[in-house]
Amino acid sequence: MKTYLPSKFILERDAEKCIQCQACVSQCSFDVNSYDARDDEIVSNSENCVGCHRCAVFCPTGAIAIKSAPLQYRENYNWRPEVIEDITKQAETGGVLLTGMGNDKGYRIYWDHLVLNASQVTNPSIDPLREPMELTTYLGRKPDRVEVNPDGSLKEELPPQIRIEVPVMFSAMSYGAVSLNVQESFARAATEMGTMWNTGEGGLHPELYKYADNTIVQVASGRFGVHAGYLDAARAVEIKIGQGAKPGIGGHLPGEKVSVDVSQTRMIPPGTDAISPAPQHDIYSIEDLSQLIYALKEATNYTKPISVKIAAVHNAAAIASGMVRAGADIIVLDGLRGATGAAPKVIRDNVGIPIEMALASVDSRLRQEGIRNRASIVVSGGIRNSGDVTKAIALGADAIYIGAAALIALGCTVCQQCHTGKCAWGICTSDPRLSKRINPDIGARRLANLLRGWSLEIKDMLGGMGLNALESLRGNRLQLRGVGLSDTELEILGVRMAGN
Ligand code: SF4
Ligand code: SF4
Repeated sequence: MKTYLPSKFILERDAEKCIQCQACVSQCSFDVNSYDARDDEIVSNSENCVGCHRCAVFCPTGAIAIKSAPLQYRENYNWRPEVIEDITKQAETGGVLLTGMGNDKGYRIYWDHLVLNASQVTNPSIDPLREPMELTTYLGRKPDRVEVNPDGSLKEELPPQIRIEVPVMFSAMSYGAVSLNVQESFARAATEMGTMWNTGEGGLHPELYKYADNTIVQVASGRFGVHAGYLDAARAVEIKIGQGAKPGIGGHLPGEKVSVDVSQTRMIPPGTDAISPAPQHDIYSIEDLSQLIYALKEATNYTKPISVKIAAVHNAAAIASGMVRAGADIIVLDGLRGATGAAPKVIRDNVGIPIEMALASVDSRLRQEGIRNRASIVVSGGIRNSGDVTKAIALGADAIYIGAAALIALGCTVCQQCHTGKCAWGICTSDPRLSKRINPDIGARRLANLLRGWSLEIKDMLGGMGLNALESLRGNRLQLRGVGLSDTELEILGVRMAGN
């Protein structure tokens, strides 16, 4: 069927600068650029351009400029271009519109309405270049009270903990959704920086077992790749109930992305669709969740914390309370802006709540109920920089998962084409030709650099507040103030207005 959709981008090539090296032809995975032998020139079909900028970055002479196509429609606040395009696509395909990455709508980003404190005359600030600053974090259940023997040892045994040296971990991204080179980059960077990476729901490739000490393995509704060796290999096990990009629905890895290697890791036949059902079929109540948590604790001999991940939704605080009472050692809240390899656009853009609100209400609820010590809180969903991380800690998080930010460190330009399997940056693809574009040596270095930079900035912010340990900031909402927020928003966040 002839498409009525106009081009979103225009690729302009400066003929004076172009040396016809054809780098743009080989780099584009969306068939935008080609060499026309008859006219001996490089030509471009802007209609296919997704704005990923791979060709412009790799053009050796800077001959390429990618621009947004000028507005094609009469201005209309209701019938915006995106709305018209979505209807047009569905009229042409008759299907669910799929997309990748996270919610890009204009919901309020509360991090941008929260500001941090700094010491001035009294309680002087600390210079992190001269004084030790502690970022080490322990994730897992803490005892109700701590009693110490005369020799300094603890009277009761501490439940299993994960120790991380920086409060930022790489969030769940499964093999198949991302390439093995991407996962290896995560695993190596996590090992170097003393933090964790997460397998996602696709199993653990044999080549990555050596990074077990820094690996969190997921048990999701599809149970792909779950076996005793997989659970044994991990530092912690995460039960995935939901994710922020698609709360309430399952996952779908199309058969064409299920290569032989992916199929062996997931323990399914090659070329078949990997469908994760919407619910975990053995969890229909908090009691069921409790049984699965204890089954996993039994299976791992009570040596690993068990984490439970949910999407941030309306009753997150009550749900989280139930999860903690069911025995979860870590609870993961994934907010409205959480990213994904593929999700129905209507779900991604309309379901869930901002992570800032979910975090504040969950932390408050667990404190009110006197059970905050029983589980660590990890949050994710659009965390962009060390400022967001520091504010999340002050709001009550123990640690943060990053997904999109980590992919951007690897080269992702947030073109939202992950679901096509054609990622030109070699990230969200199982195409062997494209996957080679991520070199794990370089990927791990870029990711470790990102975490190193954020750690230095977090220490600067802590020192500025006169604090020398992240522990002193955790849940310390007095270090936050709100700007441009209503009384109700401030009340939910548990934060005072700036100037107050
Ligand atoms: S990469 Fe740049 S120089 Fe090479 S063919 Fe394309 S536009 Fe020309
Ligand atoms: S991972 Fe690749 S396809 Fe997905 S948004 Fe980033 S650059 Fe685009």
